[in-house]
Amino acid sequence: MTVEVPEVQISEHVELPAARTALLVVDMQNDFVHPEGSLFVPDAPKTVPIIRNLIERAREAGARVVFTQDWHQPDDPEFAIWPRHAVAGSWGAEVVAELEPLPGETRIHKLRYDAFYGTPLEHLLRLWRIEKVVVVGTVANICVLHTAGSAALRWFEVVLPADGVSALTPFDMQAALRQVGFLYHGKITNSQGLVFT
Ligand code: ZN
Repeated sequence: MTVEVPEVQISEHVELPAARTALLVVDMQNDFVHPEGSLFVPDAPKTVPIIRNLIERAREAGARVVFTQDWHQPDDPEFAIWPRHAVAGSWGAEVVAELEPLPGETRIHKLRYDAFYGTPLEHLLRLWRIEKVVVVGTVANICVLHTAGSAALRWFEVVLPADGVSALTPFDMQAALRQVGFLYHGKITNSQGLVFT
């Protein structure tokens, strides 16, 4: 079977008011991003410098940066679907060293694919008067898509720099871009086209 991928519209230039924008760095944890991680995504390491640059630009502009971490109990039912990963407090659950959050930056310990589910993420974004969320990280069609979708369902404007997102397969990547762009009306961009104002 061959499936034709609908064209994804890329927004070349997107301005982000720093005070109303949060950068969500999704699950850039050792288990997904480090080659020795238990659920390694081979395309994830090449997004690290791109995400790092975006984090630096967001910090410089005064935009909020939020790090999500998949955070499971040792008997989590998700381990019937995926190999054991991101067990609370383990090395695999830590954010990769290159993207280490600064003291005081927010970490969201997530229970499932959607970083809003059962966490204070929405509460914090509302307190901070955030209107736009830039979502990067991994895995494209899993935690990135569900978090971006959940943000859009709450009427946050979603911006997805595709070069800061990694997937297990090209199909998964295209599926995620399609859903964010078409269904959730988010902007698909490249990281260099983002400008914090
Ligand atoms: Zn998980």
